[in-house]
Amino acid sequence: MRVVFLGPPGSGKGTCAKIIGELYSVPVITTGDMLRAAVAKATQLGVTAKGYMDRGELVPDDLVNDLVAERLKQPDAAAGFILDGYPRSPKQAEALDKILKATGNKLDHVLHVTLEDQAIINRLSKRRSCPKCGAIFHLENKPPKAHDKCDVCTTTLVQRGDDKPEVIRRRLEVYRDKTQPLLDFYEKKGKIKTVRGDLDLKELPATLRRVLGHD
Ligand code: AMP
Repeated sequence: MRVVFLGPPGSGKGTCAKIIGELYSVPVITTGDMLRAAVAKATQLGVTAKGYMDRGELVPDDLVNDLVAERLKQPDAAAGFILDGYPRSPKQAEALDKILKATGNKLDHVLHVTLEDQAIINRLSKRRSCPKCGAIFHLENKPPKAHDKCDVCTTTLVQRGDDKPEVIRRRLEVYRDKTQPLLDFYEKKGKIKTVRGDLDLKELPATLRRVLGHD
């Protein structure tokens, strides 16, 4: 199973990707997480990527394409993968097509997760995450049990630098400008399926199975 997720930041792509990854036992490859890990380790990629990420801009295509190409060569991705946050520009979509052609594979689905801007801004500005284990909370909808502390490992929660309102607005503009055109690209290939990003978490696995024709 090879699936790509499209949708604005904060639409719930990551949550859907995780459910589908578990459903099909394939790895979920999240470029945002990979880049944040590179920033945390201050690798050469991380040092370059940080400035772009802090401003809500896309990290240059060549860097991300190389990162994903290397990741897709790992044995665990041979039988399938879920891409969360990639491709995000026409150049990235072309690079992914090349990899797929070279390996004789095809995408099975492109899932478009939709959510209105106001709901996105609310979701991202109240999102808090654990810098240690990656658990995600929302101050209203999924608050941590103890103020400011991760339920899983008690580490103090943080707000991602790019979840501040002015950077969220820029990320939404970049999405419309650079990523939204990919909807047309994949529509022409007849791959797009749409899921609302504000479904109740309990309904989501069944909805995703239905959308993917898994039942
Ligand atoms: P995300 O966690 O997916 O919202 O990504 C956070 C940030 O990482 C984005 O605002 C970009 O700066 C960078 N990023 C993640 N994925 C990509 C990608 N496919 N291409 C370029 N930049 C990316």
